[in-house]
Amino acid sequence: MAKIINGKEVSKKVRESVKAETEKLKAQGIVPGLAVVIVGDDPASRVYVNNKKKACAEVGFMSEEYALPAETTQEELLALVDKLNKKPEINGILVQLPLPKHLDEKAVIEAISPEKDVDAFHASNVGKIMIGDYKFLPCTPAGVMELIHSENIEISGKNCVVIGRSNIVGKPMAMLLLHENGTVTITHSRTKNLAEITRDADILVAAVGKPKFVTGDMVKEGAVVIDVGMDRDENGKLCGDVDFDSVEPKASYITPVPGGVGPMTIAMLMKNTLMAAKIHAGIE
Ligand code: NAP
Repeated sequence: MAKIINGKEVSKKVRESVKAETEKLKAQGIVPGLAVVIVGDDPASRVYVNNKKKACAEVGFMSEEYALPAETTQEELLALVDKLNKKPEINGILVQLPLPKHLDEKAVIEAISPEKDVDAFHASNVGKIMIGDYKFLPCTPAGVMELIHSENIEISGKNCVVIGRSNIVGKPMAMLLLHENGTVTITHSRTKNLAEITRDADILVAAVGKPKFVTGDMVKEGAVVIDVGMDRDENGKLCGDVDFDSVEPKASYITPVPGGVGPMTIAMLMKNTLMAAKIHAGIE
């Protein structure tokens, strides 16, 4: 039977430590500020934006929301990003993705000042993650690392398998495991004999986007299984990429969905915004 890694508890600790540091900064007259930009009325994006604003309030940050209509042009969005880049009270800029189809996401991300890119999506920050010299954490993968560390799980020398190679999760996840001396394999939709590879994993991270994709027969006895997925099952219920019922009896540690990786992402965003505020104040 696996030990369940409780993402709610770990994320609470991260947010509490951000709050305590924010109080100290405030005593020096520094208030971390996050601008959240949302374009259109995608309901999932609205939920994410509301959660981010709520998290800001909880840790004592100032937050500003910019809700733009779906028909906003690329020029209008870039003009807003430019304004926020120059606004001193704003330390972090977050443009909620996905953007409506007519907008060029890549150009928008690249327009954000790397010093305010608290999602760590800008090419310059991605490059820094690659060379292991970074201050902004890639939020979801960093949240996974925090969960692994919370249980003192050894990464060095372990076989780590990541399923998924997206720029947001899979690739930076692999980098962070590599920086901690894991022997890392990245798998994707063209990978042959996936189950053979995953069965070799001491640490298995699933970031596939397919409900209950990882089944018990794909997992080694005693493996640490981290489920990044946020999917819907056949009844429309939130579930992960891991078939919890068949995997949990074999794993040594497992993250649930909900309550695993999900709460960590926003906590790490708060950590990045705090870091941005410190950098801008010349403290870091
Ligand atoms: P994505 O961009 O769609 O990437 C999915 C990856 O899975 C791709 O690299 C794809 O391979 C690979 N894949 C698809 N089918 C596969 C198969 N049959 N075998 C092996 N690999 C396969 O998704 P993402 O943005 O990385 O997100 C992954 C999941 O994490 C989603 O459920 C998402 O909702 C969730 N997520 C959660 C959080 C959080 O805060 N908890 C944050 C971000 C994402 P190819 O590259 O070959 O297509």
